Formats: sequence, C-alpha cells, structure tokens
Amino acid sequence: MASVTFDKATRIYPGGTKPAVDQLEIEIADGEFLVLVGPSGCGKSTSLRMLAGLEDVNGGAIRIGDRDVTHLPPKDRDIAMVFQNYALYPHMTVADNMGFALKIAGVNKAEIRKKVEEAAKILDLTEYLDRKPKALSGGQRQRVAMGRAIVREPQVFLMDEPLSNLDAKLRVSTRTQIASLQRRLGITTVYVTHDQVEALTMGDRVAVLKDGLLQQVDTPRNMYDRP
Ligand code: ADP
Ligand code: ADP
Repeated sequence: MASVTFDKATRIYPGGTKPAVDQLEIEIADGEFLVLVGPSGCGKSTSLRMLAGLEDVNGGAIRIGDRDVTHLPPKDRDIAMVFQNYALYPHMTVADNMGFALKIAGVNKAEIRKKVEEAAKILDLTEYLDRKPKALSGGQRQRVAMGRAIVREPQVFLMDEPLSNLDAKLRVSTRTQIASLQRRLGITTVYVTHDQVEALTMGDRVAVLKDGLLQQVDTPRNMYDRP
C-alpha cells in the first residue's frame, strides 16, 4: 500500500492547443478510495493513464509513496489496472486468466495456485475457476478482471469505468461489492467514472474534473451537504 500524489501533473497531447489535464494536484492517502468524476472528455482517463505510466507527463510529477514515478515504465510502478472491457483471454480458464501475470513474472505454480484460490474465495469465483470466460455472466467476468489485478497484490489499484458494460441492476450490486472489497483489502484505489451517483456512493473522496481542471475534491458527505 502507498499514497499517490499528483503534483501539478499535466498532459498536453501532440497538436493539442490546451492541456487535456492541467496541473492536477491531488494527494491520495494510503488505503483511500478516490473517485475521479466528470463528463466525457474532462481528462479522467488521461489522469489515470498518467498514473499508470501509459501516457507521457508533460509537466509536474507523479509519486507513489515517496517514489517519483513520473518517468518510470508501467511495469515498475507496482499498480494494477482494471479496464472497461476486462480484456480476459478467451481461450484460458478463469484460473489461468487470474494467474497469468504471476506466471509471466516467474512465480512458481504452487504459489500461483494459492494466490488464485485466495482471490477466488474473496470474489466468490471458486466454482468457476475451471471455466472459460464466455461461460460466465458479465458480473462474474468483471470479478475475474478484479481477481487478475488482486493476485498481484499491487500497491495501487486503478479502475476505468469498470461497470460500464453491466446492466443497471448489476451495476448497483457490483459497485457495492467493489467498494467493500476495496475496504477489506485496503489497497489505495483510483476509480474513474462519469456517473455521479457511482462516485458519491463508492468514494472515500470524490475529485471533480472539468475541461482538464480540478474543480473540487471532497468527501461525498460534504458534497451532499453543500446547498
Ligand atoms: P475522459 O476520460 O474524461 O473522457 P480523456 O482523458 O479521455 O477524458 O480526454 C481528455 C481530453 O483529451 C479530451 O479533450 C480528449 O479529446 C483528449 N484526448 C484524449 N486522448 C487523446 C489522444 N490520444 N490524442 C489527442 N487528444 C486526446
Ligand atoms: P500449466 O497450464 O502451465 O500446466 P496449471 O495447469 O497448473 O499450469 O495452471 C496454470 C496456473 O493457473 C497455475 O499456476 C495454477 O496455479 C493456476 N490454476 C490452474 N487451475 C487452478 C485452480 N483450479 N485453482 C487455482 N489455481 C489454478
């Protein structure tokens, strides 16, 4: 676990006239669940991708704990990301999907099995470990994608609209599951959504972006209480 600091982090896309993210300044505490919210195009994904190392930073810095990661490649950042489309490998079983990153990292099979089984238990996926992703529901696939991230025991967990492929009912139950899972694991989490209700129900704090600029950062309670 670790804190995350956006220290005036700025991204200007090549040919862009103004920054997609303009001097973003947020300190995310160790174990905190921070939601980045705002309309399409406000700079949420760009912020997350800068933190992941998938996007160049053109000004300012990003730190994980007290480590400056601004120019480190993704693999050296100790983060795990869950994407919108989950990107599961269709020809692999759930267990193999969840263990794949560890296998690549050279972790031995017994150790992978143990971690996969633990994650499956937490995520209620034990009975599905030998199935292929296409035999699962959308919500179950979403949990496999989470499991794949959890087994790596990252310091920081990133999620970009992870519920957008689920129907409305499943979205509500899954957001509760994600929030309680995060609290149990206590992994510092940055979660991107355009959905205000999702942001206010899930986040310890919510950061509102507009046109690449941070508008406010506060707890849901304080935001609700605002007249
Ligand atoms: P959000 O995730 O909030 O929808 P983005 O971070 O994707 O917003 O985009 C922020 C701004 O940067 C938008 O104006 C978008 O058009 C622009 N943008 C995003 N990706 C690129 C890119 N690869 N090249 C140029 N401009 C981009
Ligand atoms: P390989 O496919 O390389 O022969 P395995 O069949 O043991 O190796 O599976 C690949 C990885 O996925 C293993 O490291 C294993 O720990 C994990 N795995 C496979 N099946 C299960 C399962 N039913 N429960 C937990 N982990 C599993």
